[in-house]
Amino acid sequence: MAALSLRGVAKNFGSFAAVHPTDMEISSGEFYAILGPSGCGKTTLLRMIGGYERPDGGTVFLGGNDITRLGPQERGIGMVFQNYALFPHMTVFENVAYGLRARNVRGDAVRDRVMEALESVRLSAKHQSPVPALSGGEQQRVAVARALVIRPALLLFDEPLSNLDIALRLQTREEIRLLQRSTGITTVYVTHDQGEAMSLADKIGVMREGRLEQSGEPVLLYGSPANTFVAEFLGGASLVDCEIGPARDSLAWNGVALRIPAGQDVPPPGPAVLAIKPEALSLEENGDGAGMRATVRSREYTGFTTTFGLLAGDRVLKALVVSTPESGRVAPGMQVSLRMDWRHCHLYGSRR
Ligand code: ATP
Repeated sequence: MAALSLRGVAKNFGSFAAVHPTDMEISSGEFYAILGPSGCGKTTLLRMIGGYERPDGGTVFLGGNDITRLGPQERGIGMVFQNYALFPHMTVFENVAYGLRARNVRGDAVRDRVMEALESVRLSAKHQSPVPALSGGEQQRVAVARALVIRPALLLFDEPLSNLDIALRLQTREEIRLLQRSTGITTVYVTHDQGEAMSLADKIGVMREGRLEQSGEPVLLYGSPANTFVAEFLGGASLVDCEIGPARDSLAWNGVALRIPAGQDVPPPGPAVLAIKPEALSLEENGDGAGMRATVRSREYTGFTTTFGLLAGDRVLKALVVSTPESGRVAPGMQVSLRMDWRHCHLYGSRR
């Protein structure tokens, strides 16, 4: 049985559908990331799971029980907010104890459980500190301890790392993953960062404009994106309009006919969309002309890899290559020949 199950959960703000009726199944102990661009309804969906927003339709089940009408305090769910939502006038200890006291836990049990929760985020030494005296990363860990202390059946995170600098973000991301693994608490984590979702989650649900577009393991989503949106958003693919030939074994694009290798999912003959992931393209400075021609627009060197922007026809394609002395010679303005590895390409009947 799923630990968390959403059936047709929906939310409108006036006439605007922030979340269309959505189904979601999350297994016990799973780390599930809701991923999507800004404004797609991620936070609204999370807030409906946590009880902070009332759905206009549908049902939320936790451990098989219908919790749709329960308030946040009655759900046994811990939530870590983007801005931490700590009480600045209270100590670390009191912030973490707050949720327990609200649930009528008293006496030594409060102290034991607060210190245990602070221990798990390595902050027990700072239990008497006022919150404003802590760094951003430490405040974030207090917020995690406060969510953990109620021993929740479910842990919710709303973009918890967005206020941290890059180094701290990577470190904290690792800590959250380890904590989730060691506690085994079923977790739902909202982010707009593909890398964060891919590295943290057992499963990802990709959202767009209030709808869940695809849900599954990161490898599945990356390897077999369900539509052009997932290919572009998760895989960083460049999308190009093309024409599938009558025998479905070739396509025409940018004045070039390309053979489609066997094993590729091919839509019916006619207009189609080719999604090319950055790692699909390699470039040859003095190509033999057999490949597509492109003009180098940009080069971004990041050490081990280099990303090129390549103008082919009326599209700029992204190419990610391992840096070599040869790639170092390829500069903006140069003409190159492109080779395409079909294992990193996908074909669709239309854009979505
Ligand atoms: P972000 O990553 O920017 O936080 P999100 O995917 O979490 O975005 P939501 O915060 O869920 O998106 O918002 C979804 C849509 O609903 C947005 O267009 C937002 O403006 C709108 N919205 C959210 N809360 C309200 C509200 N209380 N009243 C009216 N509109 C709202």
